Amino acid sequence: MYSLRWSLPCLVTLVIAGCSSGPEAAGAPQAPAAPALGDACTTDAACGEGSGLVCLASGRCGTATCTTGACGEGAECFLLGAATRSCLPTCDAERPCGAGLVCATSGACVARCSEGACGPDATCDDASGLCVADVTKRPSAAPIPACDDVPARDCTAGTAACASLSAFDPKLGPGYEDYPLNGETASNQWRSFAREDLQQIVKWSTALVACRGKHWAFGNGAPLGLGDMSESNGAIPGTARGQPGHPAGTHTNGLDMDIGYYQIGTKDNRLRAVCDHMAGGKDVYHCVSEPTALDTWRNALVLGAMVTSRRVRVIGMDGKVGPRVMAALPALCRDGYLDATACTRARTLLTFEETDQGYGWFRFHHHHFHISMSSAAYASAPASFAPSEGRMLWRDGVPASSLERFEALGGHGHVD
Ligand SMILES: [Zn+2]
Repeated sequence: MYSLRWSLPCLVTLVIAGCSSGPEAAGAPQAPAAPALGDACTTDAACGEGSGLVCLASGRCGTATCTTGACGEGAECFLLGAATRSCLPTCDAERPCGAGLVCATSGACVARCSEGACGPDATCDDASGLCVADVTKRPSAAPIPACDDVPARDCTAGTAACASLSAFDPKLGPGYEDYPLNGETASNQWRSFAREDLQQIVKWSTALVACRGKHWAFGNGAPLGLGDMSESNGAIPGTARGQPGHPAGTHTNGLDMDIGYYQIGTKDNRLRAVCDHMAGGKDVYHCVSEPTALDTWRNALVLGAMVTSRRVRVIGMDGKVGPRVMAALPALCRDGYLDATACTRARTLLTFEETDQGYGWFRFHHHHFHISMSSAAYASAPASFAPSEGRMLWRDGVPASSLERFEALGGHGHVD
């Protein structure tokens, strides 16, 4: 399973996670005898003569190198640096790591971080034991690129033309990819129709992130994945097959779009969960732990950029993603990555529910954020919306309790 699937994500994770001291391994489930993968050590000898294990810089026993598929059950060959590989135990929400170790977004068990060990751009998050972005500092010391060649943010073709619905085109642009999902095929992306003004804002903001963030030494480098929009006639995606995948009043007429989060430790930025979302063995459809796979800076940059447009009605995200984005925005505005208006408008237009308040954002946004446009004529669009206007996900107030039926459907509930 080695190759791109593991190498880039693991490298990125470990660099970002600031695990420069090296990630550690816990006792592999299949290793019966000591010394074992993950044991504490100070010398190679402590890892056992002839065991094939060496003492990694992290102070844990690991293999000196490895090849794909050679690590045995419950372990994988992870890339730790430019040319360093080691077998490490794997983990996920259902299979936690051993004592003193935490599950990194790459799926490897690594050492809990300690203060000061996360490198210059990250800080040790006590709750998760992983290094996370230090949102008080700018993400790079490099000069901020001017980005004069990004496309225009706002549609100026007139109210009717800007409101017109068409297939998102092109499918791949600087900073985004509109890939087939939820039953689409490459030749028939029937859930990917959006208004011209929305298409333009998405193309502009993702191109801006690709440009302004190009010196940032974290993230997976992939374009941002675009999810459900509307069908070609403006219907909710899924309607053509008798299963509308979103609540009534949303994803109609090309006014709404689901978009993946920028991620760390994954191979791309397509729609997928950025956190644990299981509780008591059950999927609860929202983050129950810190979103450690989230590229906080790029998400803050794209969302801050989007809300500078008066055409945006509201953007919603998970309740554990929102606080991170809001925490990162001030540094982006202060240092010139974003206009100051981004930070003022974000307070009313960026929405999330840390607890369920019935606005419809609490569940089903652990794998994407949702941008919703105002259908008002632009000339009369207000400078900002009152919080009460900007907070509802859908326009006609569907009760949140009706959301359960979306659990099984591709679209709002989950992403195929
Ligand atoms: Zn949506």
